[in-house]
Formats: sequence, C-alpha cells, structure tokens
Amino acid sequence: MPSADDIDALLPQTQCTRCGYPGCRPYAEAMLRGEAGINQCPPGGTATIGALARLLHREPLPLNPVHGVEGPPLVALIDEDACIGCAKCLPPCPVDAILGSRKHLHTVLMALCTGCELCIAPCPVDCIVMAPRPPTPETPPAPEPGANRRRFAAHNARIARRAEERAGLLASRKRQAPTHP
Ligand code: SF4
Ligand code: SF4
Ligand code: SF4
Repeated sequence: MPSADDIDALLPQTQCTRCGYPGCRPYAEAMLRGEAGINQCPPGGTATIGALARLLHREPLPLNPVHGVEGPPLVALIDEDACIGCAKCLPPCPVDAILGSRKHLHTVLMALCTGCELCIAPCPVDCIVMAPRPPTPETPPAPEPGANRRRFAAHNARIARRAEERAGLLASRKRQAPTHP
C-alpha cells in the first residue's frame, strides 16, 4: 500500500495550489484517502497523472480542466521600473525565489522560480507577469521537485522561526511593561 510520502514524491512540489489543496502534500494525502482524483495537477500534467495511475493502480485520466491546463514552464518577471519595493511578494513565494528588501526593487531568481504564480496576486502595482521560460542555452534549467521540496521546507522553517521570535519579543515586552495599581 503506497504512503502519502510515495504519492508526494511524484508531485512537482511547486505548492501552486491549483489542485484545489493548499500544497502538494495535502493533495497527496487527499489522494491517499481516496478523496481527490489523480488528474488535478496542471504543472505535473500527463506525466504525473501516468505516474500516479501506476502507483495507485488507477486508470490514467485526462487532466481535469477545472484545475487548469498543461503548458510550457513559466517564470515570473518583475518590471523593475514599476516595482515599489513593498516586499509583499516575498512571503508567498514557497521557494524564496524573489530577492529584495523593503523599499528596494525586487527581482526573481530564474533558476529557483517554479512558475507557481503565487506572487502575482499580492503585488499591489501588478508589476509581476508570467512568461515562458526562455529556451536558450543560457537559461538556467527549471528547478527539480527535490530542490523545490527542500527550498519549501527551508521557507517554512524560516517563517516558523520568525513567528517564534516575534512571540518571544511580545512576551518579553509584556513582562517589562509597567503595571498600574
Ligand atoms: S504542483 Fe500540483 S500537486 Fe503541487 S500544489 Fe500545484 S497542483 Fe497541487
Ligand atoms: S517567484 Fe513567483 S512564480 Fe516564481 S516561485 Fe516564487 S511565487 Fe512562484
Ligand atoms: S509585490 Fe510588486 S511592488 Fe511589491 S516588491 Fe514585489 S514586485 Fe515590487
């Protein structure tokens, strides 16, 4: 009997949520429970559906169009003249592919970008667009699922660490605050 780990290992790890779940792992768990179809991952497309069908002994199905269509690999591009440096695109990027600090323009590291599109909606000035990954010998190759998974784990660990630090700071301020009789 395959495990959620076995199923998750076949998914692209972009965490794009297009399958209708908050990431690849929750989708893998839903498939294991028999609650989700094997044809809901547009980034993985036909190849992923085939691999899932073999693992789970199910019939291969066409990609469910409700979840999107299979297309060429995309990368995010930031119009650096329009970027206001608000940094709102940084936290949503599951693989930390955007470089920049508050009040400075931001840029996307093409070698790390999975094309998940999660940075588009938070940008208040709509200066991020998706474009096909250029097919030139100079273009860095699209990141592998294993690398995406490691970067996502590092991203989550950093967010958890920051939340812990903030909670600690808040608690220490509360302790130091003068008490009024
Ligand atoms: S890559 Fe596929 S499985 Fe992972 S979140 Fe996106 S649609 Fe879901
Ligand atoms: S830069 Fe945007 S499209 Fe690329 S991985 Fe990060 S959030 Fe996804
Ligand atoms: S959200 Fe948009 S404007 Fe803000 S830093 Fe990112 S790219 Fe620049």
